[in-house]
Amino acid sequence: MKTSRRRALQIGAVAPVAAAAAATTPTNAITATSPSSLYSSLGVKPVINGVGVVTVLGGSIMPPEVVKAMEEASRYFIPLPELEKKVGARIAELLKAPACMVTCGAASAISVGTSACLSEGDPKKLRQLPAREGIKYEVIQQKSHRSGYEHQMELCGAKIVSVESRQELEAAINERTGMMFFLNKAEPNGQIKREEFIKIAKQRGIPTMNDAASDATPKDNLFKYTEQGFDLVIFSGGKALRGPQSSGLLLGRKDLIDAAHPAMSPYGGIGRGMKVGKEELCGLLAAVERYLRVDHKAEWQVLEDRVSSIRAALKGVKGVKTDRHIPVIANEVPHVTVEWDESSKGLTGQQVGDKLLAGDPPIHVQRPGKGQLLISVWMMRGDEHKIVGRRLKEIFSA
Ligand SMILES: *Cc1c(COP(=O)(O)O)cnc(C)c1O
Repeated sequence: MKTSRRRALQIGAVAPVAAAAAATTPTNAITATSPSSLYSSLGVKPVINGVGVVTVLGGSIMPPEVVKAMEEASRYFIPLPELEKKVGARIAELLKAPACMVTCGAASAISVGTSACLSEGDPKKLRQLPAREGIKYEVIQQKSHRSGYEHQMELCGAKIVSVESRQELEAAINERTGMMFFLNKAEPNGQIKREEFIKIAKQRGIPTMNDAASDATPKDNLFKYTEQGFDLVIFSGGKALRGPQSSGLLLGRKDLIDAAHPAMSPYGGIGRGMKVGKEELCGLLAAVERYLRVDHKAEWQVLEDRVSSIRAALKGVKGVKTDRHIPVIANEVPHVTVEWDESSKGLTGQQVGDKLLAGDPPIHVQRPGKGQLLISVWMMRGDEHKIVGRRLKEIFSA
């Protein structure tokens, strides 16, 4: 089953269920579905996240270490530019990158990184963006690497130039080329792979950016792409890393990171509206430290167990097939796929999705195609996978 993050998030629900057991797992050191007086006072109902680390459902859940760092950070005044530099340097050291800065999400890393490349470290040019006079404003991207985040480059004045083959790429490079953009998870879809892309860029002296926002699993990926030679590499802070939802990482060449800094708050640059607070800075650092320390094998096993549990719940339900599925590159963790014949079952994917959503708590899953569900167990908390298995069985057995 092919997954597309950009497909509409699909939903389902759960029959009224007592609060799930407050289980603590290596993945989720939190208490599970106890009612939230905060959210209920706002009239917002918490849901079971069967989609994964997606911004639209709240990203991830911060572990206690991260919350603690943010809480402590919130109690003091500090010179913010100094904290930005120190936290960046510490994370760069941890991730063996030449340099790093914390941004306001991966999307903001795309913007400030692009503005650094386009301005070539010249503060006057940086001030002038998005005006294009005298700027190398063209950004080359493979057609299959369109990410939906092009606007983040365009707001800096970039003009996206699409290519498909190596020949087209080489012909597209000219004196206006300021950057080459790579969407990490799209590597299998594009003709030009990482190594070749980097090699061509280096030969022609063009900086490269690799957007790997959702690709911090396995952990080695955090090191891999800077080491491979990308000049800038981007990760979301609020996805696999489980840092603050509004944080991101821009890793890479020191001169480019230095050029990106003045683009951000508190300076008056193009990224002034993408402020990173002291709480996010310290929270993301704590999240990176934790992520490097955590036993990923044990976490993986927890996910495998959840996948098995949901599949076991649906075992023997007539006309319903389940499988274990691991997406390539992005969200590379165990998922469950559910497949059935819509007409013989008399049940469309839309109907199943609606039923999952209509329950209490509502369950969000993806619906990649006809008679298909794709369920991520990654961000489920406590025993929520049991609720999901039970609810699916009820729907398919009715
Ligand atoms: C999630 C995502 C982003 C945006 O990340 P934020 O941290 O929400 O800003 C950018 N690019 C890709 C490929 C993503 O998956």
